[in-house]
Amino acid sequence: MKPAMMEYYAPTGLGEAATLLAEAAEDGGKVIAGGQSLIPMMNFRLVRPPVLIDLGGVAELTSVQVSNSHLSLGAMVTTATVASSEQVRRSWPLLAHAATWVGHDQIRNRGTVGGSVVHADPSAEMPAVMLLADARLEVRSATASRTVDAADFFWGYLSTSLEEDEILVRLTLEVPPTGTRWGFCEFAQRHGDFAEAGAACLLPPGGRPRVVTFGAADRPFRATETESVLVAGPAVDEKRLRRAVSGDAAREGITDRTKVRLLGTMVQRAVAMARDQQV
Ligand SMILES: Cc1cc2nc3c(=O)[nH]c(=O)nc-3n(C[C@H](O)[C@H](O)[C@H](O)COP(=O)(O)OP(=O)(O)OC[C@H]3O[C@@H](n4cnc5c(N)ncnc54)[C@H](O)[C@@H]3O)c2cc1C
Repeated sequence: MKPAMMEYYAPTGLGEAATLLAEAAEDGGKVIAGGQSLIPMMNFRLVRPPVLIDLGGVAELTSVQVSNSHLSLGAMVTTATVASSEQVRRSWPLLAHAATWVGHDQIRNRGTVGGSVVHADPSAEMPAVMLLADARLEVRSATASRTVDAADFFWGYLSTSLEEDEILVRLTLEVPPTGTRWGFCEFAQRHGDFAEAGAACLLPPGGRPRVVTFGAADRPFRATETESVLVAGPAVDEKRLRRAVSGDAAREGITDRTKVRLLGTMVQRAVAMARDQQV
């Protein structure tokens, strides 16, 4: 099928885009980024936005900035850039690695980090890493700006705290301290498919470990019991690790035992990877 008819706008500035969205949002108007999720949904008539506001010409949304302490990505930075940018690879190697798991070349070349985060597919890699990093998400409407922590952003299946008239502008991640160990693992039927289960971990030297799993619930979630087990470092007893993952899964209401076992394996492999990977 083809999408229903719509009006199309191509603003060149963020203010103009926000004003257009303010006028269109009430009737279901949307911004479009890479179109890799929105266009298929429109083709299937799952959504019928009467107005599309293309963010492709908004240059303010495409920059990658890095300092000693922070990595900052414009919402329109493509997943391909996240995967290949030297700045990202040096400051946040886990993020660059995770981006290589998003779909295929064609998807990564068009799809954006902001689009993926706003779309909030529970199996998607970028939301999981943003939660792991506790990224700060800058959003704005025609009249106001605010910052949302990733922990408060993902509400459920394809659902976030973003208002209909708001645009995600920028995602900022604190750079992990030198010596931080990291691991990432996911299982999909074929490389490039959405993950059936996945895990990412960050083990800062002397700091609180962070573990996020994705693909198993209606949104990515922090595995806090697993984090507690990893306080002693990545060389942890596997049975203990799996018990902790099961505890986290139970608290999230995941009852499918195959899924829980798969999650356990993903966490175990991410932690094993962290023994060798260091920022
Ligand atoms: C075959 C295929 C395989 C895929 N495999 C994977 C995969 O393995 N892992 C994965 O994570 N993804 C996968 N994807 C999805 C892909 O990563 C998308 O690119 C991504 O989910 C959405 O990004 P986008 O830039 O294309 O957003 P769009 O499709 O343009 O937009 C998605 C939604 O976000 C909104 N939006 C976009 N940008 C903003 C913004 N800045 N502010 C406010 N709202 C915004 C849009 O209005 C829309 O509702 C796959 C897609 C396809 C077609």
